[in-house]
Amino acid sequence: MALIVHKYGGTSMGSTERIRNVAKRVAKWARAGHQMVVVPSAMSGETNRLLGLAKELAPGKHTAAYRRELDMLASTGEQASSALLAIALQAEGMPSVSYAGWQVPIKTDSAYTKARIDSIDDKRVRADLNAGKVVIITGFQGVDPDGNVTTLGRGGSDTSAVAVAAALKADEALIYTDVDGVYTTDPRVVPEARRLQSLSFEEMLEMASLGSKVLQIRSVEFAGKYKVPMRVLSSFTPWDIDLAEEAKSGTLITFEEDEKMEKAVVSGIAFNRDEAKISVLGVPDRPGIAYQILGTVADANIEIDVIIQNVSKDGKTDFSFTVNHVDYARCIDLLKEKVLPELGAAVVEGDPRICKVSIVGIGMRSHVGVAAKMFRALSEEGINIQMISTSEIKTSVVIDEKYMELAVRALHRAFDLDQAPV
Ligand code: ASP
Ligand code: MG
Repeated sequence: MALIVHKYGGTSMGSTERIRNVAKRVAKWARAGHQMVVVPSAMSGETNRLLGLAKELAPGKHTAAYRRELDMLASTGEQASSALLAIALQAEGMPSVSYAGWQVPIKTDSAYTKARIDSIDDKRVRADLNAGKVVIITGFQGVDPDGNVTTLGRGGSDTSAVAVAAALKADEALIYTDVDGVYTTDPRVVPEARRLQSLSFEEMLEMASLGSKVLQIRSVEFAGKYKVPMRVLSSFTPWDIDLAEEAKSGTLITFEEDEKMEKAVVSGIAFNRDEAKISVLGVPDRPGIAYQILGTVADANIEIDVIIQNVSKDGKTDFSFTVNHVDYARCIDLLKEKVLPELGAAVVEGDPRICKVSIVGIGMRSHVGVAAKMFRALSEEGINIQMISTSEIKTSVVIDEKYMELAVRALHRAFDLDQAPV
C-alpha cells in the first residue's frame, strides 16, 4: 500500500463527464489499496472566466486590496471542481471529502496572486486517510497568516500537488494532464518530438524555466527540495486501463542518474518567445556601469535574463540584456529617464522580436563540444546568434524570432532527439 497524490489539470476536469472519469480512475487506485489524495485544478476556462469578470469591473487596477479580491474570486474555481469530484467519488461508492486550502490549512505568505507555500498541516488529511476516505484538496490556493485566501500563480495547482505530496511524504505525485508526458520539445513545432521516459529533476527545472509549459516551475523546485518523486502522465487514457501499466506510463522526474536514465547528452530543447532584447550602446567602460544599469532595472522589479557586455573600444562599450515582453516598454522608459542622463552619450535600443532557444541535458557536464555542435547546426541554417548564455546543463541562444521553429527543428535533428537513445 502506498500514499499517492494525483493532480488533475483543468482539461481533465473540464466537464461532469470528465470529472466522473477522474472519479472512476481515483476509485480504481483506492480500491487497489492505496491511500489517495487528489488535487484538482478548476474546470478548464473557469479561472480565465472569473478573472475576466474582475477585469470588466476594474480594468487596470493593481492595488493590494484588489489583488486580495482576485484571490477570493479565483480560488472558487478549484473549490467547485474539488467538491464536484468528491460528489462523483461518493456516487461511485467511494467515501470522499474535499477541503479548500484554508481548511487543511495550506499556509502561505501574503503575496496575493503569487503566494508561496510556507507549511501544510497534514493532521486532518491523515485522519481522513486512516478512516478510508479519498481526500480532495483544492489546487492553486492557501491562506495567509491573517486568514486571507491566497492563490499561487497561474498553473499553481501543480505546486499544490507537489507540496501536499511533500508534506504527506507521499510515495509519488502523479500529475495527470492533457499531454502524455514531457517531450524532447514541443510536438507542435517538431512532429518527430519524442516522449521522454524519464528526465532528471535538474533538466526538468531548466526545461520549465526556459519555456516548457508542462509544469509550473515552482512545482519542480518543490519536488527538488523535498525529493518528491513525480510523474507527468495523460488523463485521457481509459480510466480502467491496467493500474500497473498506468503507474509506469508518462515521464518520471528522477533524482538519481541511475542506470535506466536515458543516456542522451542533450535531453530536450526549450524555447521562449516571451523575451525582448534591450541594448545600451556607447556606455563609458568604467567600474560600476553594470550595476548602474542593471541595478536600476532590478530596483524597478524587472527581471533580467540573458546579459552580455561587449569588449570595449575607445573606452566605450555596449551592454545588452533581455527582459520579459510585459516589462519591455517600462524598462526602456526607465533607462531613458534614469540611466541615460548619467551615462553621457549612451543610446538605448530595443528589439522585441527575438526568441531564446535552449538545449538542456545533464550529459553536457561530461561532454565537450556540445555548444559548438549547437552553433554549427544554427550556422548551417544561416541563423545569426545575437546572445549566448550557458550553465552547467544548458546552452541558450537569443536569435531573431522568425527563425525560432527552424532553429528548434535543426537542433532536434542535430542532437538525434528524434531517435530513442541506445
Ligand atoms: N486554475 C488555475 C489556473 O488556471 C491553477 C491551475 O490550473 O493550475 O491557472
Ligand atoms: Mg497546468
